[in-house]
Amino acid sequence: GRPGCECNRCFSGPDCSVRTPNCTADADSGNPLFLEPYWRRHAAASAVVFSGWHRLSYITTGGRFHSVELDRHIRLLHRAVGNAVVDDKYLVFGAGSMQLINALVYALSPDGNADSPPASVVATVPYYPAYKSQTDMFDGREYRWDGTTATWSNNGSRNSTKGFIEFVTSPNNPDTALRKPVLAGSSAIVDHAYYWPHLTHIPAPADEDVMLFTASKLSGHAGSRFGWALIRDEKVAKRALSYVEQSIMGASRDTQLRMLKILKVILANLHGKEDIFAFGYDVMRSRWRRLNAVVSRSTRISLQKIPPQYCTYFNRIKEPSPAYAWVKCEWDEDVDCYETLLAAGIISRSGTLSEAEARYTRMSLLKAQDDFDVLLERITEFVDAEEHGR
Ligand code: PMP
Repeated sequence: GRPGCECNRCFSGPDCSVRTPNCTADADSGNPLFLEPYWRRHAAASAVVFSGWHRLSYITTGGRFHSVELDRHIRLLHRAVGNAVVDDKYLVFGAGSMQLINALVYALSPDGNADSPPASVVATVPYYPAYKSQTDMFDGREYRWDGTTATWSNNGSRNSTKGFIEFVTSPNNPDTALRKPVLAGSSAIVDHAYYWPHLTHIPAPADEDVMLFTASKLSGHAGSRFGWALIRDEKVAKRALSYVEQSIMGASRDTQLRMLKILKVILANLHGKEDIFAFGYDVMRSRWRRLNAVVSRSTRISLQKIPPQYCTYFNRIKEPSPAYAWVKCEWDEDVDCYETLLAAGIISRSGTLSEAEARYTRMSLLKAQDDFDVLLERITEFVDAEEHGR
């Protein structure tokens, strides 16, 4: 059971251990509860308690809205993990990386110059839908969502004159592939939400001009709403910071205090027997293995292929441990894969939200073990039915 937790749709009771019979498996959201058991094991060491008088102020010592210690620990973590170059970068905190999506679009757009055309914000299919919805929501004079990179990459000569801001997600959400920008000469916001050793191999430290990270997929603290950007250019960093200041007067001090504690626990355990990445990797690798074992018996659905790869953090070749399964429906009649899975009692996220074909749909593997077990049960029934139906 999971005492004290929000129950998933298939479970009820005080510790969420009562199964709802025949319930639909929910593999929609990327809620990172797979790390909850790790923090239960480190409950005392990761606890943060502070009195009513503490952190009343809008501002922090020295760092204005940023905790200097948290800034330092984020840099320590990136250096220790080897997943990003931090020495020549500014750090900007946000209320989740969600808030920084628009902060960075704003920061990279032409500033207030009435003559310059608005920046075009683009991404490659399949992409994380929030890039479009955030850009559309804050649609301003300085930038607009301008579709996918396929429209522009075939027309090389036009690229150099147009102000593009390209969203790149690496590993990608939804298909988990490592990606690079495709539009030469434009600004890229490289979202590394999943670029941590429990969710991908780390071939080398990332060193793009504008990078985005989030606590949600690093430690699982999605509810704390904390993300950060690493930005090479001082002017871009200042604009992003000013966006966050004008929007929310800086990331919550309570959250910063909690994240500092969480990072300290993570750092203290790196490469030891309680390494959070080793823990998370084992969970995710085992889920991927079990899912593949079932789906490999199917002709009706298939998963993205991921080879074992060398990881600089673990210093060895690693089996895949992706956050999402990118499912393809192979049979002619299954034109809408989301609907096919729904009929089999599985809620997924349709590929159409990422402008991919309806033949694709995403299943989250990041949720609590109970959620994954129900998902695997439904998938197994689905594949078994296919074999018996032949
Ligand atoms: N970027 C990507 C690629 C994501 O998948 C997510 C969440 N699923 C986010 C950003 C936003 O995460 P958060 O706001 O929790 O930091």
